Amino acid sequence: MVSEYVFAPPPVASLAVRGSERRFPVHRIYCVGRNYAAHAIEMGHDPDREAPFFFQKNPDTLVADGGEFPYPDKSGDVHYELELVVALACGGKDIPQDRALDCVYGYAVGLDMTRRDLQGEAKKMGRPWEVGKAFDHSAPCSAIVPADVIGHPTSGRVWLEVNGELRQEGDLNQMIWKVPEIIAYLSGLFTLAAGDLVFSGTPAGVGATVRGDVLRGGVDGVGGIALTVI
Ligand code: MN
Repeated sequence: MVSEYVFAPPPVASLAVRGSERRFPVHRIYCVGRNYAAHAIEMGHDPDREAPFFFQKNPDTLVADGGEFPYPDKSGDVHYELELVVALACGGKDIPQDRALDCVYGYAVGLDMTRRDLQGEAKKMGRPWEVGKAFDHSAPCSAIVPADVIGHPTSGRVWLEVNGELRQEGDLNQMIWKVPEIIAYLSGLFTLAAGDLVFSGTPAGVGATVRGDVLRGGVDGVGGIALTVI
């Protein structure tokens, strides 16, 4: 049989679904920047003057279910950012806020790993963020928990420990843009689709990690993730 492709297409990136044998196929990964006021302030920005914004990672940057994170090349300042991840079961353009949660399949816990030095250089030069944000293995993510099981959490502790010491702490109720607002706003900029993931922003306390660190974090009511930096 002759294939229609000149070589085998890449495998579909996917995440486990808690309580199911079947996996969640990932289409795109969107990320929200500065969605918690305390984190915006720690990064040197005024959350009252600058609204949150979006960037993307590629699906093949996922590290499904955590495990091991290879420390990337070309950086000496890799930061962790623990985040609630929203997984979509449907999409569209211009989704109204009051219908946005109908498109949510479930939730997960992710780490928006960041080469902060390269991101900082890009910011300074007015260049895109990909080298700082969308590198290989930059999106570790837990299994997805269906909204059928946990509903749509609007509060719950968001936390991260490094080698057993608490580093990041916040609460979902501190998000500047709530999940329905994120989906409504994002669907005005991009056509959303089933399989899209949205990393919804990180609370305060981001910092650098080194090889050998064990990162363990979670969103209470959703789940957790553990990662060893190798
Ligand atoms: Mn982030």
